Amino acid sequence: MERKIGLLGGGQLGQMLCEAANPLGAKIWVLDAAGSPAKQINARTSHVDGSFTDPEKIRELARQVDILTVEIEHVDTYVLEEIAERGVEVTASDGSKRMKTVEVQPSWKTIRTIQDKYLQKDHLTQAGVETAISKAIEGTSLEAVGRELGYPFMLKSRKDAYDGRGNYPVKSPADISDALEALAGKSLYAEKWANFRLELAVMVVKTDNDTSDCGKSTIAYSVVETVHEDSVCKLVYAPPRDVSVLVQQQAQDLARKAVGSFPGKGVFGVELFLLPDGELIVNEIAPRPHNSGHWTIEGCPTMSQFKSQLLAILGLMPSFPNSTIPAMFPATVMLNILGGKTQESHNKLMDMAIAIPTGALHMYGKESKPGRKIGHITVVGSSLSEAEALMAPLITVADDIRA
Ligand code: ADP
Ligand code: MG
Repeated sequence: MERKIGLLGGGQLGQMLCEAANPLGAKIWVLDAAGSPAKQINARTSHVDGSFTDPEKIRELARQVDILTVEIEHVDTYVLEEIAERGVEVTASDGSKRMKTVEVQPSWKTIRTIQDKYLQKDHLTQAGVETAISKAIEGTSLEAVGRELGYPFMLKSRKDAYDGRGNYPVKSPADISDALEALAGKSLYAEKWANFRLELAVMVVKTDNDTSDCGKSTIAYSVVETVHEDSVCKLVYAPPRDVSVLVQQQAQDLARKAVGSFPGKGVFGVELFLLPDGELIVNEIAPRPHNSGHWTIEGCPTMSQFKSQLLAILGLMPSFPNSTIPAMFPATVMLNILGGKTQESHNKLMDMAIAIPTGALHMYGKESKPGRKIGHITVVGSSLSEAEALMAPLITVADDIRA
């Protein structure tokens, strides 16, 4: 645990990464705005205040650490490439300068490919991983795209998208001008509509830089079902509510194949669509801990997704039988807390979570804004129906406070 970790981004994922780091004795330096959630729980005078897209700030962070990682993919990958390939210049106390080696995990190549959703889909297709059909739209009209993909189709921003911000469902040719206006100024691509039965997700840990043998280098958590509302994750069910063991196994295999194709180490979130005919396709991949893996804090208490991220980038991840990390409780349900109409809207939800003996409340220390993810609640149960019954009244309140 000697190696110091530098983290680009200090939001809730960074905060939970720091929570996992403390008991391990791992030390994290954070680059993000002053007072960001990760900094609130990690006292250090030498955190870097600034943006994870600012090359000089990233170099400043790199000078203090041995390994850089991310909690967000929307970072400057060119400076990460420079640091990974050439190191970062440091000045000794006598004024002499030298280059210091700093590892970047996952690889800057992986972050660069994944941060552009269109390049990501292209990469997956070339790796033989089924994904939604994607079309570049440069040099063609959206009317022509609509004729080819059919309606509805999804117009997506290639970069900087999150929580559905960057997506516009185009239901008919009449929506095209509104879609282009809503996503004006962004580089776009179009995706064939996936008429999925369910959305699933699998967290995968990659333990080797190599991409040649994903069987050896990837470990999959149990499959979960994710429920989105207005393109924002609302609920996560571990295990999924109505998915055969065979399909769950196929989802893990597909997720491992997808993650195995990217260089570098770390934890990855793989979002999947389960189509009505039983076919699975990858929606998208995140090269970092992911909302669909928060359940692991309580569901896999000795190996949460955050601990895995740390152990994987440090090269310390233990091996698991069958390359899977099983859930340690029969059922876990997670509900996101989104800011409501007022600053206090979610207080009742917090009280209800605290009152559940097998429940866990996680507030991120973020100011409440309508629709903003400010916390989450997890309940564990001895069966899915028990966990669902515990969560049901909280879902009703979450629906009531929706902004
Ligand atoms: P984000 O970066 O916001 O997570 P996603 O591409 O995952 O963006 O889209 C958010 C949600 O929008 C998905 O979880 C899914 O519910 C819906 N969605 C995305 N792409 C499609 C598609 N091709 N067809 C149907 N629904 C989609
Ligand atoms: Mg998504």
